[in-house]
Amino acid sequence: MDKRCKLCASDRVRIIYEGVIRTGGLDKYTEQDVPMFQCENCGVIWHDPMLKNIDEYYESKKYRASMDEGSEEEVFYRNHDRETLDKLQYTGTTIFRDRTVADIGCGAGAFLDFLKGVAKNIVAIEPSEAFQKILSRKGFAAYSYTSAALTDWENQVDTATSFDVIEHVEDPLNFMCETYKLLSDTGTAIIGTPTDAPLMRKLLGECYEKQILFSTQHLWIFSGESLKQLAKKAGFSRIEVRYFQRYGLENLLGWCIEKRPKAEIKETFFRQEMDAVWKSSCSTHQTADYVVLYAGK
Ligand SMILES: [Zn+2]
Repeated sequence: MDKRCKLCASDRVRIIYEGVIRTGGLDKYTEQDVPMFQCENCGVIWHDPMLKNIDEYYESKKYRASMDEGSEEEVFYRNHDRETLDKLQYTGTTIFRDRTVADIGCGAGAFLDFLKGVAKNIVAIEPSEAFQKILSRKGFAAYSYTSAALTDWENQVDTATSFDVIEHVEDPLNFMCETYKLLSDTGTAIIGTPTDAPLMRKLLGECYEKQILFSTQHLWIFSGESLKQLAKKAGFSRIEVRYFQRYGLENLLGWCIEKRPKAEIKETFFRQEMDAVWKSSCSTHQTADYVVLYAGK
């Protein structure tokens, strides 16, 4: 195949899937088959972008609507407040006090709300116009894009976080380079993104890939290795990745029995201890569904 990896330029690229993929929320699919490519060198998975004017799409209300979320503030918190505990698990709590913190792709600022009163300055970066006003109202320094925030905050951010964003951007290297520029010399970037959930793919194959994993909004699925390579290319030097399992045993068994998402088995015989073992085993063996990059200058 005459195709090169869009990240590392390797010619060891193969098609790992060709069929309809999710477009927006659950049960909505593309009309045409979409080839998914994987680079055998860095491991990244991608498809060619199908959305025209991607910036405009994320600025408008269309994106939230396609995810069945809407752009209302309360709906955002209802959907995203629960993620904060996970995010604090990725970041710890010691890198925010009296520091300048930026969150890239922060939505209505659910995570940043928990840092208010702790961080010295809060920089909120979010393209959605509907959320811009909310972020300014909260007293955050709000910007549509990192490139705009750089005017005021270049080399000044101590902690830059970004969760579930890099897989949406057309040019992840540029995303990484801009994040690098935001950071102070001792600053740290923490960037989290879903993996290809290797264990779920192995167990469920195409039904998992089609219904949940591959989607038009996710232009990329990174591996730890591809994230590390990208960070290195952007100039970062202190680079590390860690894996986290977000979905628990209830989700795994629901999928195995019903072959569809949202089929969680809510039985009491799944004790917290079992769930903890499942999650830590996925993290240790790098088969978890989420990967977080930690990188400094
Ligand atoms: Zn590659």
